Amino acid sequence: MTSKTLADAISCLDDYDPEALRVDRACQIINECVEPVSGIEKVALRAALGRVLAEDVVSTVDVPGRDNSAMDGYALRFADLHPAAESNLRVVGTAFAGRQYDGKLAAEECVRIMTGAVMPPGADTVVIQEVVKVDGDRIAVPAGQQLGQNRRLAGEDLKRGHPALLRGVLVRPAELGLLASLGMVEVAVHRRLRVAFFSTGDELVSTGAALDAGQVYDSNRYTLYGMLTRLGCDVLDMGVVRDDPQSLEAALATAAQNADVVITSGGVSVGEADFIRELLARLGDVVFWKIAMRPGRPMAFGRIGNTHFFGLPGNPVAVMVTFYQFVRGALLSMMGCRGDVELPLLRVPCLDQVRKRPGRTEYQRGVLIRGNDGNWSVRLTGAQGSGILRSMSEANCFVVLHHDQGAVNPGDLVSVQLMDGLV
Ligand code: AMP
Ligand code: MG
Repeated sequence: MTSKTLADAISCLDDYDPEALRVDRACQIINECVEPVSGIEKVALRAALGRVLAEDVVSTVDVPGRDNSAMDGYALRFADLHPAAESNLRVVGTAFAGRQYDGKLAAEECVRIMTGAVMPPGADTVVIQEVVKVDGDRIAVPAGQQLGQNRRLAGEDLKRGHPALLRGVLVRPAELGLLASLGMVEVAVHRRLRVAFFSTGDELVSTGAALDAGQVYDSNRYTLYGMLTRLGCDVLDMGVVRDDPQSLEAALATAAQNADVVITSGGVSVGEADFIRELLARLGDVVFWKIAMRPGRPMAFGRIGNTHFFGLPGNPVAVMVTFYQFVRGALLSMMGCRGDVELPLLRVPCLDQVRKRPGRTEYQRGVLIRGNDGNWSVRLTGAQGSGILRSMSEANCFVVLHHDQGAVNPGDLVSVQLMDGLV
């Protein structure tokens, strides 16, 4: 997979309009410009959590290793059972989990068996203990059993010689367990993505200092730190940079030299963008967009040398929305994830009336709630201003109002993206 240049990616679109770019077009351009970073490392199994596999993992064993019982009961030969009547068998021993039963079953014999115990030679079927009548060393098995029931077959989970996991898979708890079930102690993963970020704005103050009139604490660096860390990136927090060309140029140059990706917030809105635009045109290849979305309209994207650049808007909610819609997927691709990195959209009824005009995509903050009937629906958090970070904190989903969609009436189905579990 090779990535395109910005100009090539843009030239593929016949409806490219940087002054009103559709969200899906912006995603398409960004995704065509990124590719996985090179660099692989072997890490101990637990350290692979949240990392992306760099090689296929081929199973060296069958899991389970042998045919075994899925239940506590009696292992027997199906051929010994009467098809339509009760059958009587003799119990000749017990098979325990983790041990091989030594004997062999002769005709009309069975073995008491525990869950996970290896099937005794000759036995092909397990009858659960609850349906069996026991009388000394004899059991009576009711009619109606099925050949092979309650038996787990060797290799039914993972087959020796077959890929158990493919490269490009993000390692979650299930994958950690699966790798452990193969007995692996270390795995090859892509190296971590190094992401530098800073906030721009003369009005910003770092936490710990006192605020003067008109100043605000820099919160974007904290939401970015949180989102990037959860995604498993190696982060380089470069602090607040003043709105002056020399400081910005120095910060951008340092960031680009030290990271795979540079993310800034603020300074890309109309009125502020001019000198940044000039600066980035000189330092790299960056386009400035007005995206047909709310919140998050202004955004810059491109490269400074070999480093990808995302200039996110300054408003705190807009930072988070543009991160989830544009940056997250691109970073996952750069981390080596293959396949679909998009967030799923689910449809649920909306409880509120929502004003919306066609021609832009909106990401309103919503709360999914379960009604008395047990079904889920969504309501909006209160005020939806792009500076109201509380709306993100109160929300557990984005209500995505699509580009061509109009107003929503109570009871209408809307699309939502769950925030919980976002990596
Ligand atoms: P800008 O995009 O730079 O024009 O900023 C838009 C709005 O977001 C302004 O009200 C800024 O004060 C605010 N803002 C920008 N950066 C931050 C930040 N790092 N933390 C909190 N608010 C910010
Ligand atoms: Mg600013």
